[in-house]
Parts: sequence; C-alpha cells; structure tokens
Amino acid sequence: MEIIGIFGGTFNPIHNGHLVLAQTVLDTMHCAQIRFIPAALPPHKTTPAVTATHRANMVQLAIRGHQQFVLDTCELDRPGPSYTIETLRLLRHQLPDQSLCLIMGQDSYQQLPTWYRWLELPDYCHLLVVHRADREPGLSLHAQHRAKLVDITDAPHAFATQAHGLISYLPVAPPAISSTHIREQLQQDSHDAGADIPQQVLQYIRQNHLYQTQAG
Ligand code: ATP
Repeated sequence: MEIIGIFGGTFNPIHNGHLVLAQTVLDTMHCAQIRFIPAALPPHKTTPAVTATHRANMVQLAIRGHQQFVLDTCELDRPGPSYTIETLRLLRHQLPDQSLCLIMGQDSYQQLPTWYRWLELPDYCHLLVVHRADREPGLSLHAQHRAKLVDITDAPHAFATQAHGLISYLPVAPPAISSTHIREQLQQDSHDAGADIPQQVLQYIRQNHLYQTQAG
C-alpha cells in the first residue's frame, strides 16, 4: 500500500522547520506524497490575523517544484473550526485503499486529548510524531495508544501493510524554528527571519505587508 503523509498546521507562516520535517518523513517512511493542509480556523489557537488564503498561498510557494509535496485546501472550503477528524473522514473517502499517516510535532501530540474526537483518529490513519528540538527527547505516549506503538525502524513496513491504527515516533528533530518566533522577527522588521523561511515566502510576506502588527 502507498503511504500518504497528512501534514496539517496553521502554517502562519510556513517555515524551513516544516519543510525539513516533511522531507525527513518522506525519506524515512517512503511516502508517495505529503499533503500540506492549512487549517482555516485552528481549533486550539487564536484565529490568525493572516487569512487562510494567504497562508495557503505561502505553502504553495514554499513547496513549488517539489514533486511529492502537495497543497490540499480542503479545510479552507469548510465553515467552522478545522477539525482534523473531519478532514480525515474526507480523505479516507477519497483514498479508500491508501495508508494515511498523520504527521505532527511532539507539542501537538501532547495536546491531542484536547482535540475533537481524538480517540477516533487511529480509525482513519496512523500517527507519526516527530521530535521537536526544544522538547525533551522521547515520546510521552497516551495510555490509549500503548498497544498501537511500533518502533520507527519497523514503521515504514508496518504502516504500508495496514491502512491505519498504528503510531510511531521519529526521534530526528527538524531545526528549532517556530512560526511564533518568525512572526516576532517580522514585526520587528528583523532580517533574521529570512534565514528560516524560503525566499519566495519572505517575498510574498513583504509584497502583501503581512505580519507588520502584533496580531500576526
Ligand atoms: P506556532 O509557533 O504559531 O504555534 P508552529 O511553528 O508550531 O506554529 P504549526 O503550523 O502550528 O507551526 O505546525 C504544524 C505542525 O508542525 C505541528 O504539529 C507542529 O508540532 C509541527 N512543527 C512545526 N515546527 C516544527 C519544528 N521546528 N520541529 C518539529 N515539529 C514542528
């Protein structure tokens, strides 16, 4: 079975940490594709001041030229909070015979019990949790996932053998970059932000006068 990586986020803005993470997952898991899915209204964050359309445009620019990275705007067309479980239901309908692998950083995994219908996620996909450089290494596994854990060395094969239901932890950390820090740098008009986001994204931000106020 082909493995499709599902990478949801606010992408406010997309940064090199996201891109390295996606590439590492692609290489490790031998995914056929990674779908970047910007959240229109992230349920666990304050509503971003930068519109979902701008955030999706920046994702599109960042992944341009990368054959296996795809922008999926399904959450932008839906009213209300962007619940991952609903996105997965939709994807499962579109891709009934693929293995779906939901990718998230360690910080998101720790927050998982606050997600809408989080216990049902493994009914639709596998979970792949990626180490985040500013966090303690190692996965603090939720008790409900204990029987689902597979070692990362077995994950590429295991995830390709069944369509959903497993969880694994990738101990390789992408660079310690966060959108929060980038927004702060851009508000201060610091040129340092340019090192952590693709050039074409920085250009888009400047052209559209984004992240100039505190709200971001
Ligand atoms: P913010 O600082 O605004 O909270 P963020 O940098 O965490 O944003 P998101 O768009 O919320 O970016 O991230 C999407 C997903 O990517 C989340 O699961 C997050 O944990 C993960 N992620 C983002 N940056 C990194 C990073 N540098 N290393 C590992 N995981 C990351």
